[in-house]
Amino acid sequence: MWLSPDPVYHQVRSGPARACFRRFSDPIPKVCVMNRPPRRGPLSWTRSILPALLLAALPMSAPAGAAVGPLTPLAPLPGAAPWSAAHHSRQHRLREAESKARAGMLRQQLDQQRAPGADKAMDAYDVRFYRLVLDVNPATYILTGTTTVEAVVTAASLSQMQLDFSFQLSASAARAGGSPATLAYDAGILTIDLDRTYTAGETVSVEIDYAGNPTSSYFGWSSHGGQPLVWTLSEPYGARVWWPCKDVNTDKADSVALDVTVPSNLIVASNGVLEGVTTPAAGKSTYHWRERYPIAPYLVSITAHPYAIINDEYQTLAGGTMPVVHYVVPSELAAATVGLAPTVDMLGAFAQAFGEYPFVLEKYGHAHFTWGGGMEHQTCTSLGIGSYPEYIIAHELGHQWFGDLITCADFSHIWLNEGFATWMEAYWKEVRYGAASYHAEMAAARWMGGGTIFVENPGSFSAIFDYYLTYLKASWVPHMLRHVMGDADFFSGLQQYRAERGYASATTAQFQAVMEAACGLDLSAFFQQWIYSEYFPRYDYAWVREPAGAGWRVRLRIEQSQFNTGLFTMPLDVRIETENGPLTFVVQNDQAEQWYAFEVPSYPAGLSLDPDNWVLCEKRFQGTSDVPEAEAVVYLLGAAPNPFNPRTTVRFSLPRDLDVRLDLYDAAGRLVAVLAEAPFAAGEHGVDWDGRDRQGRAAASGTYYARLRAGGDVRTVPLTLVR
Ligand SMILES: [Zn+2]
Repeated sequence: MWLSPDPVYHQVRSGPARACFRRFSDPIPKVCVMNRPPRRGPLSWTRSILPALLLAALPMSAPAGAAVGPLTPLAPLPGAAPWSAAHHSRQHRLREAESKARAGMLRQQLDQQRAPGADKAMDAYDVRFYRLVLDVNPATYILTGTTTVEAVVTAASLSQMQLDFSFQLSASAARAGGSPATLAYDAGILTIDLDRTYTAGETVSVEIDYAGNPTSSYFGWSSHGGQPLVWTLSEPYGARVWWPCKDVNTDKADSVALDVTVPSNLIVASNGVLEGVTTPAAGKSTYHWRERYPIAPYLVSITAHPYAIINDEYQTLAGGTMPVVHYVVPSELAAATVGLAPTVDMLGAFAQAFGEYPFVLEKYGHAHFTWGGGMEHQTCTSLGIGSYPEYIIAHELGHQWFGDLITCADFSHIWLNEGFATWMEAYWKEVRYGAASYHAEMAAARWMGGGTIFVENPGSFSAIFDYYLTYLKASWVPHMLRHVMGDADFFSGLQQYRAERGYASATTAQFQAVMEAACGLDLSAFFQQWIYSEYFPRYDYAWVREPAGAGWRVRLRIEQSQFNTGLFTMPLDVRIETENGPLTFVVQNDQAEQWYAFEVPSYPAGLSLDPDNWVLCEKRFQGTSDVPEAEAVVYLLGAAPNPFNPRTTVRFSLPRDLDVRLDLYDAAGRLVAVLAEAPFAAGEHGVDWDGRDRQGRAAASGTYYARLRAGGDVRTVPLTLVR
């Protein structure tokens, strides 16, 4: 949002180009937002990610003199199980996805109601402030409300204001500039005639009176323990179901006031700070909540119940304190007190890594509602009753940075919310339990399936809240980006992302631009392949060692053998176990077949590719061998394509003229075909296999082994036939 100063508002945050304003009268000190200018420089990927131990990673375009064979027995294929047992236990997170998806069921109805051109009309103004005066009556299931909208005109002129509003409620009256105004409702849009024509820069104020029963996936008249439990869950398109608003993520109100009247046995939890409770009539209480930070409509929430309250306190980075308040059903008081206790430590951990808790002048906490899982309502997460796993507390708290402070500009970019929040679960594990725990958590979030993380149809709820793409695979994006950029650049990039997009919204492209500026790398391939494309790379790799001078040379071949998507550009860790300890190199991999050579000072006993699992991929180790120094040897160079159908070429090279026998065996060791039995001249040769056996029958899908015998050497290489 772009706003000009107005004496009614107190400026509380100054950024490089934007200013945010608060509606309320009490002075609030400025919030410090880290704003470091982006570092630019001619960094290459490799330079940025090189660990100290990088010695010599030399991509080789051709395997001059290198060999891959004879191959030791193949390692078992890495498990391609899409998710681990650990994940099956994660019903809460799944439930969050499911509940959010269910909560979106009304979208199609609402979309059908949305008038053509309504979006454009709403672009004509910029919301500053909402006031929601609500009377919540759980006995009659009637919600009575008055919503005030204050907005600055951004078009040349404005004579009508349009707002999203659902059919569940009916608006009875409107006022504009304090005068009665006519209103019309059509197809999900409320149109209010303003008292005059306003021009650009002027502030418009309208009020709408409405009432009805908003019951839906977005607003619930539930009960617990025989008492009412009223809740809201507006993500993605449900704010309009219970209050008229400009229901988009890109126009956050700078502040929201909620004055919520309930039967006096209920306690209302909501966004921001509770400024007081008044008694408007006998048997009624009004809770005055004030949210002074910018907030997207879907993050505005109320819950009401005869809650028990748990008060805790967070020590801010600046040495102050902030209330942490949990509103729990009374029967859960003891369990929730224990279960929610880690919230404070998480606040500290996340503030250290991602900048101070974004709403530190207000509060954080949870309020029980009757969904499973949680919903990251700003400063007051709604939480399912009876279960308090750390990962869900971390997830919803993580959303306060990624989702609430920086909100996906539209739900095509939901991964900026959910991918980060899911990754934050693992990050919390790292802070609390160490790096191994972080990696175990990410391993459990592996998902190997199709579909793009970018939501191509944000009108589809199941697409927005696709558990496997939006949560699991998306959590691998910050994980992988962290390794691509290196920790220093990655975390400073996130700080810059906050500085530029905080208290506003972001698209994937905006996030990419900030991260590129932070590390000086071109990340277009990274985002293209991981956000907008499908699947993952599969790396087939084999290596050979040979004496070289006083040490050893390791030659590594990596082949990208996925055939369901294009080639990936990724840095890959290569760890070589030597007699003097492990050495880790980083290679840049972006071709179907690439060779690398490494010089190591002592005997290389083993090699592993991406040993810490920084890349969402499959890996297939295809063998290793020793090459005697200065001895002419036969090389079996491999087969391409591999996997293949219907034809592949097996390549080999000979140091001199030799009689060659090239056989093909199946996995059971049965001879399938004889590919060559003849003298060959020195040099490189290719022999085709058409996927047929000796009788001319098509061989079945599976792994086969080409075995080359020449000059007393035997070399073997696996092939995969995919029918
Ligand atoms: Zn989430």
